[in-house]
Amino acid sequence: SGARVRRAHNKRLPQYLERGVDVKFSDVAGLGKIRLELEEIVKFFTHGEMYRRRGVKIPGGILLCGPPGVGKTLLAKAVAGEAGVNFFSISASQFVEIYVGVGASRVRALYQEARENAPSVVFIDELDAVGRERGLIKGSGGQERDATLNQLLVSLDGFEGRGEVITIASTNRPDILDPALVRPGRFDRKIYIPKPGLIGRIEILKVHARKKPMAEDVDYMAIASMTDGMVGAELANIVEVAAINMMRDGRTEITTDDLLQAAQMEERGMLDRKERSLDTWKQVAINEAAMAVVAVNYPDLKNIEFVTIAPRAGRELGYVRMKMDPIKFKEGMLTRQSLLDHITVQLAPRAADELWFGEDRLSTIWAETADNARSAARTYVLGGLSEKHHGLSNFWVADRLNDLDTEALQIVNMCYERAKEILQKNRKLMDAVVDELVQKKSLTKQEFFSLVELHGSIKPMPPSI
Ligand code: ADP
Repeated sequence: SGARVRRAHNKRLPQYLERGVDVKFSDVAGLGKIRLELEEIVKFFTHGEMYRRRGVKIPGGILLCGPPGVGKTLLAKAVAGEAGVNFFSISASQFVEIYVGVGASRVRALYQEARENAPSVVFIDELDAVGRERGLIKGSGGQERDATLNQLLVSLDGFEGRGEVITIASTNRPDILDPALVRPGRFDRKIYIPKPGLIGRIEILKVHARKKPMAEDVDYMAIASMTDGMVGAELANIVEVAAINMMRDGRTEITTDDLLQAAQMEERGMLDRKERSLDTWKQVAINEAAMAVVAVNYPDLKNIEFVTIAPRAGRELGYVRMKMDPIKFKEGMLTRQSLLDHITVQLAPRAADELWFGEDRLSTIWAETADNARSAARTYVLGGLSEKHHGLSNFWVADRLNDLDTEALQIVNMCYERAKEILQKNRKLMDAVVDELVQKKSLTKQEFFSLVELHGSIKPMPPSI
């Protein structure tokens, strides 16, 4: 059931009609409650008579607000597809012409076509290009745009409340629109489409996977959790790129790894648009690489899942995701040795900063991890794990606090020296990891460990307390 195309009386072919639009709500994922609002718009078409009989005004215009790529265009098409009506579209930037009158006449032609082929959805992309508050732009370009906007207002009013032509417009800046546009009877309904959350991203990936030969065990959660901040358009692209990877290797199924690789490429593209100098990328890479390279030496910490320098929600730097034995960790069953190892890993960024940039050019990039190391060292001493002060008696003897801090400091120093030693002996591995991080922004488990295999890593000296 595609869009119904009613023959226009005159023979002129409609210029703004998109033929064969066959999008359904099931093609748009992660909508949550927004879907109900959109279903109502469909009902304005399918049950228009009922609304009119009961004196309910049908809105002339609906504004879809949200960042680029969240699926606003797709949704407008889905409304037309579900209602089985024609879909007319134009990008508002096409309205804005330097020749006075061209924009206005295009708007007139667009709406004339939509009316002749009603019922129909008129979709105006980037409405803010033409709908910016009047008088804000000076000169003749401004005048032309004002004429276009006026024509749009007139056209919108022509359909008020009748429900045969409904305009859907998209914008990322509803705040700068001309007040006349958002008055009752015009774009009086706003629907906000946010970036998808974790579950939304899983759903979007799955929608795009429907038409592809996916391996049965694809880990959508893994892809969704590394694509924080991405929108539907980027996720759709990840699935496409993964399919190309598969084809290139002559395989017949898309695997989790294809998707991970594609996600990394997408992320790189996204991040390269972010403002960070090469030096900064490198500095963050050294910071994260140091933790991973040191951690890989220790049994409880070496299970490195993912290393990234991409800034994520809530963190400025990157991070190394290590999978510790969750049971041991939760139940406080980390051994004395693994606590020391943990301290060493937390000090690795500080050690790397000293080794790579020198004592005089230290940054504060490692402040947080060094803090972790200090408090872990205190836990170590206070918890009676150190050989010098066995037992919980440490808690009760106030005048020993000084001693304890001194001992914590000794532990920190010892671990720090060890971190430095591991980094020095793994210079090649460090350089390789840093290079790849700067290039790719994040490394999967496999990528990281293949570098470890290639460039080797040394076992640390046995503990010497
Ligand atoms: P916008 O109009 O908000 O800039 P689009 O609708 O043009 O975004 O999205 C571009 C493409 O991204 C769509 O054609 C679709 O393939 C994909 N996409 C975006 N959002 C979604 C979504 N919520 N569900 C499924 N696919 C989506």
